[in-house]
Amino acid sequence: MSETTTETRSFEAEVSQVLHLVTHALYSHKEVFLRELISNASDACDKLRFEALAHPELTADDAELGIEISWDSEARTLTVRDNGIGMSRDEVIENIGTIARSGTRKFLQSLSGDTGKDSQLIGQFGVGFYSSFVVADRVVLETRRAGAEASQGVRWASDASAEYSIEDIEQATRGTAIILHLKEGEDEFLDAWKLRELVRKYSEHIGFPIRMAKWVEGKPTDELETVNQALALWAQPKNEIKDEEYKNFYKTLTHDFNDPLVWAHNRVEGKQSYTTLLYVPEKPPFDAMFNGRDERKGLKLYIRRVFIMDASEQLLPPYLRFVRGVVDSDDLPLNVSREILQDNRLVSQIRAGCVKRILDLLSKLAKNEVERYQTFYASFGNVLKEGVVDAADQRERIAGLLRFGSTKNEGPEATVSLDDYIERMQTGQDAIYYLTAESWAAARHSAQIEALTARGIEVLLMSERIDEWMMGYLSEYQGKSFRHAGKGELNLSLDDAEKERREAVEKAAAGLVEKLKKELGEKVADVRVSHRLTDSPACVVLETHDMALHTRRLMAEAGHAMPPSKAALEINPEHALLKRYDSEQDATRASDLALLLLEQAQVAEGAQLDDPAEFVKRINRVLLEGGASA
Ligand code: ADP
Ligand code: MG
Repeated sequence: MSETTTETRSFEAEVSQVLHLVTHALYSHKEVFLRELISNASDACDKLRFEALAHPELTADDAELGIEISWDSEARTLTVRDNGIGMSRDEVIENIGTIARSGTRKFLQSLSGDTGKDSQLIGQFGVGFYSSFVVADRVVLETRRAGAEASQGVRWASDASAEYSIEDIEQATRGTAIILHLKEGEDEFLDAWKLRELVRKYSEHIGFPIRMAKWVEGKPTDELETVNQALALWAQPKNEIKDEEYKNFYKTLTHDFNDPLVWAHNRVEGKQSYTTLLYVPEKPPFDAMFNGRDERKGLKLYIRRVFIMDASEQLLPPYLRFVRGVVDSDDLPLNVSREILQDNRLVSQIRAGCVKRILDLLSKLAKNEVERYQTFYASFGNVLKEGVVDAADQRERIAGLLRFGSTKNEGPEATVSLDDYIERMQTGQDAIYYLTAESWAAARHSAQIEALTARGIEVLLMSERIDEWMMGYLSEYQGKSFRHAGKGELNLSLDDAEKERREAVEKAAAGLVEKLKKELGEKVADVRVSHRLTDSPACVVLETHDMALHTRRLMAEAGHAMPPSKAALEINPEHALLKRYDSEQDATRASDLALLLLEQAQVAEGAQLDDPAEFVKRINRVLLEGGASA
């Protein structure tokens, strides 16, 4: 053990940035600092309790884990102390002086500079320890790792500048004390009733006792009393828990400023017994936004009240990664490891239980609270869609939760479910028609759905990037198959008169079709008379399994090499533009018109033109000549 050393060190650049931001942006949510400090103290107790399972000597001298809040009105300090795991010198430097969390850099990059927006983000992110600096201009942390010697205590101090000091101290007991030197004007946090109110609000159901000085006849005494229930909320009977308590527990659990959208609290008894308390947030919390499918947090695994680890990955499929909450198992062994969790029968049953609860919860919300369901869907609908791809066994259930734009609605905001669609399908209609496009408007105005709309057939309008990928996995719903309105045959049922008319039109246009085929040659897979169009001159149509043109463009832009693809050009021979082409005598002009016919159809589908400059030249030539020939 070295001599006592006081050392001044610099924060990582990111830490200084976070400190600065936090102190400014969090001003209107000051009191969260207490929640954060208590939550850290509680985490520290959780960690020690877990370590003590294998090393009982760690808590032998002082087995009752807890948190103490005290203050000194003279010195204007507020102290939050725990007898949890504590930290070594290296751990203090690592945990408090640097930003260990992987998302932080991305978080900083995502800030807008607009304080209002940023403070919302900071709330979703959960600023943790640094929120102390919202109310304190100097923060001292004194700590000793459980199991370490009294001489191995550490004192860390910072006044929110670019540097902090760290020194070795004598510390009689294990655990951590955070001493806040309050800023001018923050005296409310020296008030016993204010502090009790805050503890009750945020930390009532922290699983450890929080103690404060007992008051007798209007004065604090040296005796301590427990001010929270210190009972795990999820272990209480449902009918004894108020909504407010569920909400506050959610905030403590997630660091989110907002209330949760919905939650489900269930106790399963049987071959295996466990409790789940699962929340769906209103907005995507920070981790869900930036962390990938496999790097996530949010569902805590407890075994008989002992916190084991964050096990979101093991207990939830990726498409439900927005869910937050607690799972408490009666039956898993306490020494369970990540590897065991990965491949355990009990765990997979719990996981299946969680999936069912969440899907039930969402179905109920969709049915009973349409507007709140829309809030959910706007935040997480695209994540949920991954389930259609990933979870074959839940495909039908998830499909029932999806919402899409529709030709029966005025704008992109109004959506329909597949059940709505099926309910109003026309007699004889055998498929669910849909169209994928770059935006709602591009889909709504696409030439490809003209005939369907004219016949009063509803078309689902899909404009999220994930939609086309997802639809590749969704071939039917409630026994009805899906048909992309811009691919393959439409298979509309026709009566005899319609069939006759169609044949007549095709026959009459045979020459025109041949001429166009010759003109466009290799550029198209085919030229044919369209049964999709009513108003537009032409549209491009893909093979059933081809990737939509707008998706191809996005993929190409993202750097993926795309194999060449050719669409068929479908024409409307009765359109004036085709009549003009048919009667055009000038070879150059005819060629311009043919190419423009194809190119405008491609542009409408969001495709990338092979040669945009040539396209513009052609348009200009036609525009100028148009004046002359008219
Ligand atoms: P988070 O709690 O999300 O990890 P914080 O900023 O709140 O982020 O805390 C940073 C880290 O500092 C914690 O992960 C923990 O390692 C350490 N820490 C903070 N407070 C305590 C404490 N009371 N006891 C032990 N370690 C602590
Ligand atoms: Mg924390």
